[in-house]
Amino acid sequence: MYAELPAPTRDDYQRDRDRIVHSTAFRRLVYKTQVFLNHEGDLFRTRMTHSLEVAQLARSVARVTGLNEDLCEAVALAHDLGHTPFGHAGQDALDECAREGDPASGGFEHNYQSLRVVDVLEERYPAFDGLNLTFEAREGILKHCSLRHAHELELREPGGVGRRFIDHTQPSLEAQVCNLTDEIAYNTHDIDDGVRSGLLAYDQLLALPMFLRFHRESLVAFPALVGRRLLFETLRRLLSAQVYDLIDTSSRRLAEHAPADADEARRSGPLVGTSADMAQGAVDLKRFLRAHLYRHARVVENTEAARRVVRDLYCAYAGDPHQLPAQYAARRSGRQVIVDYIAGMTDRFALREHARLFGAGRAGLSQAI
Ligand code: MG
Repeated sequence: MYAELPAPTRDDYQRDRDRIVHSTAFRRLVYKTQVFLNHEGDLFRTRMTHSLEVAQLARSVARVTGLNEDLCEAVALAHDLGHTPFGHAGQDALDECAREGDPASGGFEHNYQSLRVVDVLEERYPAFDGLNLTFEAREGILKHCSLRHAHELELREPGGVGRRFIDHTQPSLEAQVCNLTDEIAYNTHDIDDGVRSGLLAYDQLLALPMFLRFHRESLVAFPALVGRRLLFETLRRLLSAQVYDLIDTSSRRLAEHAPADADEARRSGPLVGTSADMAQGAVDLKRFLRAHLYRHARVVENTEAARRVVRDLYCAYAGDPHQLPAQYAARRSGRQVIVDYIAGMTDRFALREHARLFGAGRAGLSQAI
């Protein structure tokens, strides 16, 4: 970390948040896939709107539980900065390419890449690379990390953000809030997007006990409700119930354990969480979405095409590094530069690059759901 003077009107977490909002990587989230590819429709969630929803939920939870709202907001806004184009399909393809291209690299992990973005890849400030964020923001951004990458981090930064994956301790309470609100956000908004796309039918959702419960509650409160408003009201209740449960359960655990400081909280096992019933409901939601949306034939078709696009790009740059932008290639060497370059692409930039290198219309992505 580079030693800086404190900002005159903001604390360090507020400055972290502001730097994230002004970063290039943050703006790219508008054109990165959450589940549906960016060109499939204007109203589907993107990584940007997903991150904003997580930030809203995390701030709400932090306010009631007495945690730091600005730290939660910073972590939530930055948590997906390292995502590749085309969502998990892009990530899987880039991981395979990275491992094949450099077996010593440890592969590609999006959380680790998010940390690279804020530590190294953003080039905006004269005195340092990255955004020079606080330990706590960086710790929260690194939601998951392989042991291999954790050991690499530990070598560069002893006792730093990689340490907890070696010691099996928890991140800050604010980071725990972001991890949970991330899941709550996507479990809920992916249902909305799934129905909007026509790939999920409303009646299918009634097989989910948690959805059925809030569907019935909505109709008791508003018996004439139908169509999209019924879906929105059911999802609104589903979202609120998960957040209120998270607040109640976490507040109770925090009161019981009463950690004296942040480090004691890190050693105390997960203190932020939902009740067993709500956690089971979330598992059911996730399982349902995996079976009926993420593995839907129409999604998988595009997933396969997206993997090919990422693989083609990687092979093109590896075979002819002159295809990389000159300033990019000159900055760093080896296969890592290709991984960083592809990981930073938006969906539509990746498709434009693919068209430039392989010809228009070769990507094979379907235009509309
Ligand atoms: Mg997320």
